[in-house]
Amino acid sequence: MESTDMYILLGVIFIVLLQGLWIFQDARKRGLRYWLWGLFGCLSVPASLIIYLLVTRANKALCPRCEKKISKDYLICPYCRIELKMNTK
Ligand SMILES: [Zn+2]
Repeated sequence: MESTDMYILLGVIFIVLLQGLWIFQDARKRGLRYWLWGLFGCLSVPASLIIYLLVTRANKALCPRCEKKISKDYLICPYCRIELKMNTK
């Protein structure tokens, strides 16, 4: 193996690890299964990152009253205090 190939390989490994690490930390912050997401992040660049962002950011909705971005599992809108769901518990 030539040394240039070696540098390219190291660069690719570095980028893959960086992406995996970023997804790992972001998933941990959000209370997701971060080990699973971290491993998933090392599978493919940049497809894993795109899938991760789509999945984790897809949980967003718009408030029906103030139309601000909120999480789908909020019970009350943090901006206008409208009740979004009936609390069944
Ligand atoms: Zn609102």
